[in-house]
Amino acid sequence: MARYTGPVCRLCRREGIKLYLKGDRCYTGKCAIDRRAYAPGQHGQGRKKPTEYGIQLREKQKARRIYGVLEGQFRGYFEEANRQKGMTGENLLRLLERRLDNVVYRLGFAASRAEARQMVRHGHFDVNGHKVNIPSYLMKVGQTVSLREESKNARIKELIETRGPKAIPAWLSFDATALSGTVTALPAREDIDVPVQEHLIVEKYSR
Ligand code: SF4
Repeated sequence: MARYTGPVCRLCRREGIKLYLKGDRCYTGKCAIDRRAYAPGQHGQGRKKPTEYGIQLREKQKARRIYGVLEGQFRGYFEEANRQKGMTGENLLRLLERRLDNVVYRLGFAASRAEARQMVRHGHFDVNGHKVNIPSYLMKVGQTVSLREESKNARIKELIETRGPKAIPAWLSFDATALSGTVTALPAREDIDVPVQEHLIVEKYSR
């Protein structure tokens, strides 16, 4: 499946905020946002005030980049969210949160969503006992993702130990002995800590 393979710090600089796309590096002084807090490119330091459309576009791009989803697939998530009952913007974020790579990241198996995606692609996880290597697989309430026995290596154990006790969101439960996590509920908006104003994305697609 296609994914963005260009320089990722550039994406944060374009959005003007830390998107935490590089894992551990994002928390060090090497972060590009800390060193060059302006948009990339020749005109990065001289951009004009954004239009209303520009603001909506940036919000959509930000969400897309946080979750590592390309345009066509993101549009598909929006259409699915629009078909569901309730607030389209919240439905959209809920769908993105339920992606297997995001759940793996939220459970602390990986330092970034990109790393989680790669781990899923490499077949390190089971969902309800069956190997799943599709990062976009949508986790359902009651399903359990577990690290496969042969993948329980020192790097993952160290990551989990250093993650800190409060990092796992309320809609997931984590079993540190079995190295597995279960979706206990659908994520509520307050459980989703991404810096995105979803109503602007809805407005963008409703134009
Ligand atoms: Fe973004 Fe992380 Fe790069 Fe900083 S280090 S610019 S937060 S990806």
